[in-house]
Amino acid sequence: MLAYQHAYHAGNFADVHKHLGLFHLLEALTRKSSAISFVDTHAGRGRYPLAATETQKLAEYREGVERLWRRRQALAAEPALGAWLARLATLQSGPALECYPGSPWWLGDALRPQDRLTLYELHPGEHQHLDTQMTTSTNAQRLHADGLKGLCQRLPVPTPRLCALIDPSYERKEEYREVVDTLVQVVRKVRHAVVMIWYPLLPAGRHLTLLEGLREAHIPKLWRSEITLREANAERGMYGSGLVLLNPPWQLDQTLDHAFDTLAPLLAERAVHHGEWWTAER
Ligand code: SAM
Repeated sequence: MLAYQHAYHAGNFADVHKHLGLFHLLEALTRKSSAISFVDTHAGRGRYPLAATETQKLAEYREGVERLWRRRQALAAEPALGAWLARLATLQSGPALECYPGSPWWLGDALRPQDRLTLYELHPGEHQHLDTQMTTSTNAQRLHADGLKGLCQRLPVPTPRLCALIDPSYERKEEYREVVDTLVQVVRKVRHAVVMIWYPLLPAGRHLTLLEGLREAHIPKLWRSEITLREANAERGMYGSGLVLLNPPWQLDQTLDHAFDTLAPLLAERAVHHGEWWTAER
């Protein structure tokens, strides 16, 4: 089943949570010069023009990135959000917010000559968009293939460090379990791998399969963050957004706690953030 298209949701509150976290993760990782293999297992398109018919249909970005964009002058000096908004501005042709970048863009933007980037996208149409929207560079490749299998097949990587983003569409409930199994394999082969996993908070509560599975697998050093917009309500769908980080760089948990505590009330009046160590160091 490959019905999901991220263009319908581009720039929503969950994208802001995920990409702000990714931005700070990339900042922390690229402070050291040693090379990193970046893998984006579920890449999507790369860039989303907000005027596109699909994006305008639900216009979820209005309750997400647009809320921050409108306040960007006031937020410019805020360390957690100002630098992220400044990077976002580099993609716009003027003062209006016209385009929202997906994870391939955020990763590509941070890429240094010594790093490598592999983008997996299985949907043929989405992969074609990715092909036309991302500029080619010698150390980046786009693969039309399954991202979780592809990540496992690449291990161990040829660079000293590995950083993966796992961001499935969770169209199949089995995907929660597949993410756990993938992380088990990653940790077995690359103990110090840094991995960011995104998951939705939906009334069915399937994300608990993922979170409890990670604990039962005894994977150490997992930090998690959840932004909850409202109470779970079967009629209103996704009520929050979650991130799990394996082996976050030193003090990134504190940076992200501050960033997301600042972000949550800007997204919705009653939104709250909760960050905690999900599993401890072994
Ligand atoms: N990571 C993107 C971002 O942050 O901008 C959004 C990704 S979207 C949530 C999930 C994407 O995964 C969709 O484009 C979907 O077509 C793709 N996909 C679904 N199953 C996949 C698989 N097994 N391997 C790779 N890509 C897959």
